Amino acid sequence: MTSGSDLEPFFQGRSYLIAYCPFHEDRGRPNFVLYPRKGICFRCGAEVGPEEVASLLRSGSLELAGGGGKGNGKREEAKALEALFREAYDNLWQGALRPRQAYLRERGIGTGFAQSQGIGHTGSAFLIPFRDREGRLVGAKLRADPAFGLSWRYKNWPGTPSLLYRPFPEGSPTVLVEGELDALLLAQWGIDALAPSTGVWSLLSLPLPKKRPLLLLLDWDEAGQEVGRRLEREGKGVLVERPEWGEGAKDIGEALARLPEERRYDELLALLHRAALAGLGARKP
Ligand SMILES: [Zn+2]
Repeated sequence: MTSGSDLEPFFQGRSYLIAYCPFHEDRGRPNFVLYPRKGICFRCGAEVGPEEVASLLRSGSLELAGGGGKGNGKREEAKALEALFREAYDNLWQGALRPRQAYLRERGIGTGFAQSQGIGHTGSAFLIPFRDREGRLVGAKLRADPAFGLSWRYKNWPGTPSLLYRPFPEGSPTVLVEGELDALLLAQWGIDALAPSTGVWSLLSLPLPKKRPLLLLLDWDEAGQEVGRRLEREGKGVLVERPEWGEGAKDIGEALARLPEERRYDELLALLHRAALAGLGARKP
């Protein structure tokens, strides 16, 4: 899937490169980020592996160091990345993509909270950045905007950790959901919400927090329930059943959307509370 055109770099850090995307007409700030073993476009979502990275670098006679950068180089890289993220943020909250705020609202994610989490829009996808407690960027997720008809739904920024999104690690209870947007939805109420960046099946092999009870609020489809039952059998958490008010909903986001806004928080807490109690009961000798 190479375009045949040379890679046109915009910013070269020691261990990565920001360039105009070779897979679509990329104007203004470039959207294609190339790491030693992976490349991703923050606009169209195109992804390349190690071999294509090597051939793209060759085409532009460019080099990337395998390890992380040092000193100024690393700071410069961080600055270039932050600029990309800030632009996505401005697109969504002040720019031409303001109407797409409606999608977050439909998903129950409040404006103030979305802004506090730095959510942006790249022109075709929502950008959800993940930061450590010192505010350093540790990863990001692209969620394709359904309004733009892309062929993919989610992409990870290279190096994004596999267990994501816990802005409130001390929050209560600890809940595992499948998607970042559902995790955001819960986190805005102070709930310690986690989501895997690598799909529901990866939960079976990821180290999960030992804090009890871990509530498994996975999608109410075959895969989600299968993974949930297996984790439950291994004593890793308590499966949360679909509530009556969420009849037919595929996940917690859809279920909550059926409730009037002022009831959502209370019903969610009651649901989690019941599951936690059931879990405690099941563990009694
Ligand atoms: Zn692209």
